[in-house]
Amino acid sequence: MKNSNFCVKSQDVIDHIENNCLQIPISPPPVSTTPLYNYSPVKYPDIQTIRDHLNNSLPPFESLTALKNHATGKLCGACPLCGSDDRFYLNIKEQRGYCTHCEERGGDLIDWHMKIKGYTHPSDLLNDYPIHQESVPGKTVADVQRRWNSIVKNNNVDDIHKLFVSRRNLSVETVNKAYAAGKIRAATHISKSCVAVPFLSLQGENFLYALQFITIDGEPFQFGDNAKNKIFQKGSNHDDGFFQARTEIEQASIVVIVEGMIDALTVAEIVPDVCCLATGSTAYTKKISHLKPHLEHLSKVIVCQDNDEAGTGFIKKVAGILQDKVFHVQWMESDPKGLDVNDLLKSGQVERIRQMIDGAVGQDRKQNRE
Ligand SMILES: [Zn+2]
Repeated sequence: MKNSNFCVKSQDVIDHIENNCLQIPISPPPVSTTPLYNYSPVKYPDIQTIRDHLNNSLPPFESLTALKNHATGKLCGACPLCGSDDRFYLNIKEQRGYCTHCEERGGDLIDWHMKIKGYTHPSDLLNDYPIHQESVPGKTVADVQRRWNSIVKNNNVDDIHKLFVSRRNLSVETVNKAYAAGKIRAATHISKSCVAVPFLSLQGENFLYALQFITIDGEPFQFGDNAKNKIFQKGSNHDDGFFQARTEIEQASIVVIVEGMIDALTVAEIVPDVCCLATGSTAYTKKISHLKPHLEHLSKVIVCQDNDEAGTGFIKKVAGILQDKVFHVQWMESDPKGLDVNDLLKSGQVERIRQMIDGAVGQDRKQNRE
């Protein structure tokens, strides 16, 4: 029999596998006289239904603007409406934001999304966040927080050690610290043994944007469009969130930006007291602006790029956003292209990594030398 006779949601399958069931019950779709494409949304749901739906669907405040800790229970950042720096405040407990420049009365998440879109009634937002929202083909839209809440209970550290200690040469101590801090967990994703890592907002664990899955055996996922190695919270994408290792950004004076999370753990192992942030790729540079609210307490933002063209382009993009606090590491002429800091760790060049970070050069100094 062909698979097309069956109807199983991919999330159900994933949930099932995670519950350690060996047999996946596959049943034919229920007999229905109403074809799916005739399914019509309720036109006039009551306002409480609309508000409940929107509160569950709208991207959070943290996705509207980059926020930093301001006072107990409050975050602040640039106003998502008027753009004024540090004039927007979010009361974390009440989830209400206000701008001292353009909107003194403040409002909840729905109010702010309405204002930004220029809408006058919450129901207008249903154009963008319809109640009967179907999943978008080719995109993985999942309740990532729910998935992580389940994954985080997994205490299998053997798989984590296999990937990070045996294959990537990180120390057991570094890996165990990251585990204890809730930054890495073993998980099963699309039938493969993986390590799952969270991509978070820069306010510690305030908001989980995405989960990345890295296979223990190093083999990529190979099942077409469903085989995404990252899943995103509703409304989020590659341009949100960082994997964060070691010191939280609020307590750090130096931030090291790397491409991948394994590079972040590598730097965290060798250089203490820095905040290591992995973007996930050199392509995802928009999120670098999330560091702007933290610049005043940072002395340096060091780009620890891979030894390739993408890495060089990455430095320029970061410097374009964060300006003169940006420094970058230097590779040697004789280094093979594509080398990264974890390659150095694997070949035992710990001291060299330390020197590269300590000797990072600023944009101007680099130009003067050339
Ligand atoms: Zn404003």
